[in-house]
Amino acid sequence: MIPVIIIGGGASGLMLASLLPPKTATIIEHNARLGAKILISGGGRCNVTNANLSSDNYLGEKEFISGIIDKFNQHDMLSWCSRRNLNLEIQKNQQYFCPSSAKELQSIFASEAQKQTIVLSQSVINVVKNDDYFIVKTNKDSFKAACVVVASGGLSYTTIGASGIGYDIAGSFGHYIIKPAPALVGFTLQKEQFFLKELSGSSIENVAISVGGKKCTGAMLFAHKGISGPCVLDASLYWEKGGIEIDFLPNFDWNIAAYSKKNISTILPLPKRVLKALIDEIGVSDKQYTQLTEDEKLKLHTLNSYKFAPAGTFGYNKAEVTKGGVDTNEIDQLTMMSKKVENLYFIGEVLNVTGELGGYNFQWAFSSAYACAKSLK
Ligand SMILES: Cc1cc2nc3c(=O)[nH]c(=O)nc-3n(C[C@H](O)[C@H](O)[C@H](O)COP(=O)(O)OP(=O)(O)OC[C@H]3O[C@@H](n4cnc5c(N)ncnc54)[C@H](O)[C@@H]3O)c2cc1C
Repeated sequence: MIPVIIIGGGASGLMLASLLPPKTATIIEHNARLGAKILISGGGRCNVTNANLSSDNYLGEKEFISGIIDKFNQHDMLSWCSRRNLNLEIQKNQQYFCPSSAKELQSIFASEAQKQTIVLSQSVINVVKNDDYFIVKTNKDSFKAACVVVASGGLSYTTIGASGIGYDIAGSFGHYIIKPAPALVGFTLQKEQFFLKELSGSSIENVAISVGGKKCTGAMLFAHKGISGPCVLDASLYWEKGGIEIDFLPNFDWNIAAYSKKNISTILPLPKRVLKALIDEIGVSDKQYTQLTEDEKLKLHTLNSYKFAPAGTFGYNKAEVTKGGVDTNEIDQLTMMSKKVENLYFIGEVLNVTGELGGYNFQWAFSSAYACAKSLK
């Protein structure tokens, strides 16, 4: 009987495989290679973690999350990497990246995984429990295991192997699944805001979006399908449905406009093309601020709290992560073991824990794998 079967050879499964004693685990991965998502992450350089790490950077049960990230935090991850001669580089927003390419991290994981048994190109179909062991069935074979760790991630990027098998397994053992949805993803437009499509290719360096009691800041991009960019991606984490508010001028001092002799299109710090589309839409003419009517001034100030109701998101094939997932109230925080089924474990994105942009999702994958490894060892 195999001591531990790890379902999924992605970030969390590979970290777990590296932490377990040799020849104790079998990784079953349905791609032909391990860590495919790591290779395309962070624009090809993999944003591994972040210097500022706390449960506030996550959507999910705060206490559950902090108990796990505190035991294997960003500093532990940096040391884990440097012990393997990978010195991560810190960049804007305190994000740590691989120095030249994500392959550097993926190769380390692929090489460490060699100490375990690796089964590639097989898809897990289901897991059943018989008294004190599990049968893990794939499309080609079946395996008997003492423990099963579900590390199969979420539904984002089906093109590189994402599947809902983790939710199916959890559900089959009676676990509650918080409804999955695409996150860290762009918003599509309702008819009223179709005019924004014409701005496709433009960007704004800094906007602030208020959504679900949170304020996200950062760059915004206009795409043909809608709006995207770091600030929008973070906002998607906290959006359920209904409207959001965009502050297109978060740091602008309106006194500058009030005392200027120049037209507002020259004074307001937005790309000309974007500003023109916005003021046309809200019905403000391009003149000196002092020459605007009181009604126009009021309308202009709505650029600080522009109402936007997304039609939806760009979907799983563009989403960096899946929010929702296995309810963490049913998972033991110290071991990552199911509170319902002995020796069944869940780690990584399959759980109802989702991080903001900035390396938080990999850090969660690694921290949860660490907690699980400690318990399994
Ligand atoms: C384009 C992109 C860029 C990203 N960039 C970053 C970044 O820079 N920083 C960051 O923190 N996060 C990033 N993320 C998010 C991050 O990649 C994930 O949160 C993280 O990989 C989750 O780890 P995981 O092990 O839970 O799942 P995954 O890494 O998704 O691994 C799950 C594995 O299970 C396998 N699998 C699925 N179903 C089956 C099955 N039925 N049988 C066998 N195997 C199966 C999959 O093929 C996959 O290899 C990015 C995501 C995407 C899509």
